Amino acid sequence: MIPNNALAELKKIIAPGSLLTGPADLEEYATDSTKMRFMPDAVAFPSTGEEIAQIFRLANREYFPIIPRGGGSGKSGGALPVKGGLVLAMDRFNRILHIDTENLIARVEPFVITETFQNEVESLGLFYPPDPASADASTIGGNVAECAGGLRGLKYGVTGDYVLGLTVVLPTGEIIKTGVETMKGVAGYDLTSLIVGSEGTLAVITSITLKLLPRPEAKKTMIVFFRVIETAARTVSNIIRGKVIPATLEFLDRMSIECVRSHIKFPIPDETEAILLIEVDGSEMVVADDAEQVRKICMSSGATEFRLAASKDEVEEIWEARRKVSDSMLDLKPGKISEDVVVPRNRIPDLIRFLEELSKKYCLPIPAYGHAGDGNLHVNILLDNTPDEKKRGEMVVRELLQRVIDLGGTITGEHGIGITKAMYMDMEFSPPAITLMKQIKGVFDPNNVLNPGKIFL
Ligand SMILES: Cc1cc2nc3c(=O)[nH]c(=O)nc-3n(C[C@H](O)[C@H](O)[C@H](O)COP(=O)(O)OP(=O)(O)OC[C@H]3O[C@@H](n4cnc5c(N)ncnc54)[C@H](O)[C@@H]3O)c2cc1C
Repeated sequence: MIPNNALAELKKIIAPGSLLTGPADLEEYATDSTKMRFMPDAVAFPSTGEEIAQIFRLANREYFPIIPRGGGSGKSGGALPVKGGLVLAMDRFNRILHIDTENLIARVEPFVITETFQNEVESLGLFYPPDPASADASTIGGNVAECAGGLRGLKYGVTGDYVLGLTVVLPTGEIIKTGVETMKGVAGYDLTSLIVGSEGTLAVITSITLKLLPRPEAKKTMIVFFRVIETAARTVSNIIRGKVIPATLEFLDRMSIECVRSHIKFPIPDETEAILLIEVDGSEMVVADDAEQVRKICMSSGATEFRLAASKDEVEEIWEARRKVSDSMLDLKPGKISEDVVVPRNRIPDLIRFLEELSKKYCLPIPAYGHAGDGNLHVNILLDNTPDEKKRGEMVVRELLQRVIDLGGTITGEHGIGITKAMYMDMEFSPPAITLMKQIKGVFDPNNVLNPGKIFL
């Protein structure tokens, strides 16, 4: 709860019209893509780092929570005001400040929409590879805070691999720069890496320096159909063992395919149990060779059909369908628990087999899709939201996460811990490791005013 005197001071700190307090206005900021709901006391739209610094100084004096928010597409509840307080809507930090085509570096404010930035960079013949499936809704700031991955992670890595430096406001009210604006630099502790992926709990990001690449000359997109789901999973390992590294290697199981079937116009062979979506990029010559190599591996691994996208429209159709999978799941059942597990790539067949066992054991549909090339699958437990199904769903999650850890994996590859996975942190980390993380949080934010209630129970 923000004390009344603090609300009055907030109005003096930020520009007129930049503070919302009416319940109807706050509603939009009470939820994100998790569909959970927690009402904030107020929402502020700061325009400068100095305003944010002043807000933090006030929050430390009057003790109220501050919750940074980007596009609200987060899947672990990181932007939700679970303890009330002030949502810091970063909407006004929406400029691409500079694209340096000589040094292949860009500086952006955090509320630049990921897709807008990708398009801008590509229009200059450059390339920003991180490509979350939510690129039309997420912001670069949210991507940095979550260290978002996406569809091109296999070859190009994740957001953190492109962040060179940051300007941030610390919860204690100081503004600092971290990292470099050069291609390398090792001075001091790597505060940039600490803040990347810290889920808005260590600092508020106000500008980001990003590394860019030259835009690949060509790409080829393939869709490969399988009658046996485990064959598809094994093919992923075979492709990587075959020393081709596609930019994208996505997997959809039968139920995920059903969810997006209406978006795919070309025929899907009968009895298809799984699809791999594969894209290779590079020079014209390399791309042609890689696509042929991928075709051979897929067919010798047991694919039923291999299809090379014939036109730009068909490529777009394939990726549009892939981007719609997550939301379309709710057409099948009203509720879902979304998991984001990662296993070593060669253990994907074991994971798939285990999901089938879990689905039978708990009588719940458990479709899976995602970045198979990274070993990162989005496992969805679909529910009718009855108390009994919810309880069975939670049992599935515990068994699933334990198996993932036993397979040498991790409980989240890109969606973060937020609130939805905080209760499972102790499955992956020892008590001393969690204590150390909490101590780091305490150094940045001694009064726990920034995004409290996240990551740790
Ligand atoms: C359909 C769909 C597909 C998705 N696909 C992917 C995918 O392929 N890969 C992937 O990684 N994720 C994916 N996501 C999840 C989500 O889009 C990402 O986590 C994204 O990075 C969130 O960005 P956002 O701007 O929406 O952040 P928000 O949801 O607004 O916030 C996320 C976190 O970032 C913090 N934050 C936001 N801005 C700042 C800032 N300026 N300073 C400090 N902290 C800040 C918030 O406090 C919160 O903890 C998907 C989501 C959906 C709905």
